[in-house]
Amino acid sequence: MRLCVIGTGYVGLVAGAGFAETGNDVVGVDVDAAKVAALTRGELPIYEPGLEELVHRSARADRLRFTTDLADGVRHAQVILIAVGTPSGADGEADLSAVWAVADGIAQYMDGPRIVVTKSTVPVGTAAALARRISAATSHRATIVSNPEFLKEGDAVNDFMKPARVVVGTNDAKAREVMRTLYAPFVRTRDRIHFMDPVSAELTKYAANAFLATKVTFMNEVANLAEAVGADANDVRLALGSDDRIGPRFLFPGIGFGGSCFPKDLRAIIGSAREAGSPLSVVEAVYAANERQKVRLYDKVALHFRGALDGRTFAVWGLTFKPRTDDVRDAPALEVITRLLAAGARVRAHDPQGMRNAVAALGEPAAFSVHADPFEAVAGADALLLCTEWNQYRTPDFERLRTTMRTPVVFDGRNLWDPTSLVELGFTYHGIGRHGPPRG
Ligand code: NAD
Repeated sequence: MRLCVIGTGYVGLVAGAGFAETGNDVVGVDVDAAKVAALTRGELPIYEPGLEELVHRSARADRLRFTTDLADGVRHAQVILIAVGTPSGADGEADLSAVWAVADGIAQYMDGPRIVVTKSTVPVGTAAALARRISAATSHRATIVSNPEFLKEGDAVNDFMKPARVVVGTNDAKAREVMRTLYAPFVRTRDRIHFMDPVSAELTKYAANAFLATKVTFMNEVANLAEAVGADANDVRLALGSDDRIGPRFLFPGIGFGGSCFPKDLRAIIGSAREAGSPLSVVEAVYAANERQKVRLYDKVALHFRGALDGRTFAVWGLTFKPRTDDVRDAPALEVITRLLAAGARVRAHDPQGMRNAVAALGEPAAFSVHADPFEAVAGADALLLCTEWNQYRTPDFERLRTTMRTPVVFDGRNLWDPTSLVELGFTYHGIGRHGPPRG
């Protein structure tokens, strides 16, 4: 099939490369000329495991190319996939300006019927609004399909190639068959395509993210309570997650969820639900609790140093919102760093993939530096804050760590390390809901 994917970010690039891998002829369109130029040279503008190989393979076979020319993409394709960003607008609602701009371009350049698929996360009702907008501007028929994306950054290629489920929202029988053909190679072992109407598909995406965010936040609050009553959140987590009805995933206490999806999608669904007169009170509470959680690690640091942070040096390991990505959008680490800097501290950071994006996101403050070697980042530090659970941080040389730091104090924001062993090694350990070595 001939496809056009508009937006070549985390979702568009993975989807474009994924569909090209199964033999489709794909054109990726983006307004970012530098991104398109880099992709055309074979350089990936983002870090996502396994993606480079996938892109190169299809590009070499002439099944995947990139352009800034929307007209070229629209005329090339039978199916057009919209994968542009939908960030939070001023009031927290999704900013759909990129989606509308793309819709207007599609309407302008269509020279026959097209299937237009929204992969971007868009509020309930957007498919219908898109259909109205495009049909008002062209006499050609555009069939709108809602096909929200569920991939996880860090494992996006795997998620796309072996999806847990594919959600397709359309009332059109032909579009349904086209979507089935497109996804057939990815669901061969078991039919995992859920067909529904567009509104239900749009809601499913938000409901999935809201549920996962709720699970994370529930455990964060349980961990906070564990701290207050002297329980160990890790023991609670393991026992809690062994119940099939609950399950072990998304139960790791931490410093709050972040990233390019959960925070903005929660804000969007909270707004939509209120507007529809059916508020999601649980999700509202989750969002508020997470805002508090993002400050907790900083509060622990401030408490430990009795508020005297001015002139101190802190090392931060992990800047991205999760491991195996370079994405720092809404990353809790950046929230902690911003507060430390505002309190007059210096921050020396390391991250395997996110340092460039973090420097840009923080606006290159003078008191913030990044270091290619994690041990260089901890040199002379008053404390180390572990903010992202990259594999390489799991078992560092603690002896070396202790002697490199000015004072051996760690704030383990991901409960990655064993409190008892760290205390034995001479560290002062602060985790999330952990009580360290047994107390009398
Ligand atoms: P991204 O910011 O990485 O990529 C968006 C791309 O769209 C950028 O390259 C940008 O230049 C391009 N773009 C913006 N306006 C354009 C226009 N008018 N024409 C052509 N290109 C344009 O975003 P992303 O993370 O890939 O997310 C895209 C959508 O998918 C969002 O709605 C997001 O909520 C959703 N989503 C993201 C993830 C994820 O893990 N990142 C997962 C599921 C769903």
